[in-house]
Amino acid sequence: MSRFWSQHVHNLTPYVPGEQPQGRKVIKLNTNECPWGPSPRVLAALRATADERLRLYPDPDACPLKQAAAAANGLQPAQVFAGNGSDEVLAHVFQALLRQPAPLLMPDITYSFYPVYCGLFGIDFQTVALDADFRLRVADYARPCGGIIFANPNAPTGIALPLADIEALLAAHPDVVVVADEAYVDFGGESACALIDRFDNLLVVQTLSKSRALAGLRVGLAFGHADLIAGLERVKNSFNSYPLDMFAINGATAAYEDEAWFRDIRDRVVRGREALAEALTGLGFRVLPSATNFLFARPGAGHEAAALAAALRQQGILVRHFNRPRISDWLRITVGTPEECAALVAALQRLCAPAPV
Ligand SMILES: *Cc1c(COP(=O)(O)O)cnc(C)c1O
Repeated sequence: MSRFWSQHVHNLTPYVPGEQPQGRKVIKLNTNECPWGPSPRVLAALRATADERLRLYPDPDACPLKQAAAAANGLQPAQVFAGNGSDEVLAHVFQALLRQPAPLLMPDITYSFYPVYCGLFGIDFQTVALDADFRLRVADYARPCGGIIFANPNAPTGIALPLADIEALLAAHPDVVVVADEAYVDFGGESACALIDRFDNLLVVQTLSKSRALAGLRVGLAFGHADLIAGLERVKNSFNSYPLDMFAINGATAAYEDEAWFRDIRDRVVRGREALAEALTGLGFRVLPSATNFLFARPGAGHEAAALAAALRQQGILVRHFNRPRISDWLRITVGTPEECAALVAALQRLCAPAPV
């Protein structure tokens, strides 16, 4: 608090990211990072970037990255926007496309950064309740609005919305922008990029933080009609001409050039997810079907999610608990390496064991 804060800053409710312990050795299953490192080709590209050319500004348009990302999704570079992590891309999306007279619609349970951007940009929004099984029902969005945003697969539930439902949503709302945040799509969702050429109101947001193991590099993308992208570029060029440094541009471009590595770690995460889901179910958890690199799980009767998260933390295992309506009984657990998952299951076995009679 300071008397120098503007009223606007005073009224903000900033996002609180998951804990990033510095130096301490923990099993980190709380922020959905990839448990394996990035492609060796990415590391080679980063090393090759460390030379005297750093005295120059980077390419303001990140052209090689846009080309690689466009090709990977069957699109043109003019249909691609690149930013400093998808959080920054989302900020520009809210500012450029979702700041409308009518309220923005979003699920009641979704990425909790969306309401933060609404606060930052003064955007009115309404939440639409997911059904009792945490599924998005397209019919519930049949009301006037200034835009729609949701994560697909959703976070923190992990549940994927079928492409046919997104198509129905786009067709029902031709005059507002519909944003699909696909941070986790590579782990089992269907990308809406396939619909971009048919719907000029669709914007798809992706990140290299999860499935490409590059959370530390900060690279996010948006895909959509060239006119939507041009709107994002207007905001970006009114804010920061160089959001991606040379390392980010070169490293991210190299990531798209190693599909074999990408498929390998994705498949390992998916196998690990299914094994962990089975183990948690065996321990009495209810586990939602996940199309992501995390599981959303509710401990069995007699065990409290918040207390379990705290007890795991004591043992050096971090998972995420959200103290929010409808989900305060649940834990979001990132799929780690098989060894990390085994350590988690062993700890939960001890914590959830029935008390000796
Ligand atoms: C992780 C995540 C992001 C942010 O990703 P960055 O590119 O690392 O900023 C955006 N949306 C959702 C739903 C996420 O889970």
